[in-house]
Amino acid sequence: MCHVEGWTRHSGFQNKKQPGFFQKSATRAALSKCEGPPSLQRATPSRTTAIMSATATATLGWKFSSPVLLRRRSGSVRAVSRAPQAARADAAIIDGKAIAETVREEVREKVAAMKEATGKVPGLAVVLVGGRKDSETYVRSKKKACGEAGIESFGTDLPGDATEDEVLAVVAAYNADPNVHGILVQLPMPDHIDEERVLGAIDYEKDVDGFHPLNIGRLSQRGREPLFVPCTPRGCIELLERSGIPIAGKEAVVVGRSNVVGTPAALLLQRRDATVTIVHSRTPNSEEIVKRADIVIAACGRMEMVKGSWLKPGAAVIDVGINAKDDDTKKRGYRLVGDVDFEECKKVAGHITPVPGGVGPMTIAILLQNTLEGAARAYKYEL
Ligand code: NDP
Repeated sequence: MCHVEGWTRHSGFQNKKQPGFFQKSATRAALSKCEGPPSLQRATPSRTTAIMSATATATLGWKFSSPVLLRRRSGSVRAVSRAPQAARADAAIIDGKAIAETVREEVREKVAAMKEATGKVPGLAVVLVGGRKDSETYVRSKKKACGEAGIESFGTDLPGDATEDEVLAVVAAYNADPNVHGILVQLPMPDHIDEERVLGAIDYEKDVDGFHPLNIGRLSQRGREPLFVPCTPRGCIELLERSGIPIAGKEAVVVGRSNVVGTPAALLLQRRDATVTIVHSRTPNSEEIVKRADIVIAACGRMEMVKGSWLKPGAAVIDVGINAKDDDTKKRGYRLVGDVDFEECKKVAGHITPVPGGVGPMTIAILLQNTLEGAARAYKYEL
């Protein structure tokens, strides 16, 4: 631990297994403890359907009993059915926990290779203002995750009454530190601090959250490359791609238009040649629009809003939402659910993410990946 600008600053590696990372609500900490089902396991017990073509599933949405074509793509065996049966299987479950673990393992390996080749490791700095318990939990989780990946973690904890100038001074110190390749300011900050000003002060080459106007601007322009992409939306795209779900040429609908999730998710889908529509709180006919979609990303913060009847059969559904739903059968009195009505939607969708165990675990995995990529750029090291 050392001190920067008069505030507590931590630096070091930690090696404990981290439980998960969620940036905005206390419920995400609880979510991170939950186990997900095996990757792409179907909700019905058939093993045959577990390996069938994601493309065919998404397009047709039928149960397959007699695979006639097997091919190997991206290391996995896929089967394409000859004909549909009358009965329709539930959606394939996209196991975000397993996919996130794969991403984290990839990062671990690449960090080790970078260290071997250059003697350097990536560094991530997390700035925390105020003593919110949930924020402290997330920051701890991030540090643990960094330690596991071999990434050096730095941190500065400022009191809740720190001035904006004091926060900006800490950001400036990390901007100037060559061992730091990613800077993350934990949100929310106290009300007296101008979030936009602080986020805008992060060097866009260290903007590991991807919220800097230059990075978002580049993301929205054809032929321009952002240096960083926001973690949760990038996680959504990874889930689709690693599940073999085609995006190019597909109709995608994003429910929600926040700067953090909805808008960057829509931009990412568009960059992958999907035809994208965003619906929001002022959209009068969201249901009708969602029903057209081959891909739905739900990020509206409305508990179980997207119903089974809203979906096109076979659609791929990525549920970003995290909501606490009263449940007397649970010791804590609630359970976590998404912005999608999972029980209804799994009967119609081709693929679906659960809550918990879907998008949530991807956020921290992508944060590590972004930090690694930032370091590789700084050291001109090819990953
Ligand atoms: P925001 O509250 O910032 O944005 C919600 C968006 O949904 C807004 O654009 C809003 O529209 C739109 N919306 C609200 N009501 C409706 C409606 N009835 N129909 C259509 N759109 C609607 O939320 P975030 O984007 O930050 O988060 C969305 C969800 O994702 C939350 O449940 C949050 O907890 C979760 N989350 C999960 C993360 C993870 O790591 N898994 C990370 C971040 C968020 P308008 O713009 O018109 O107000």
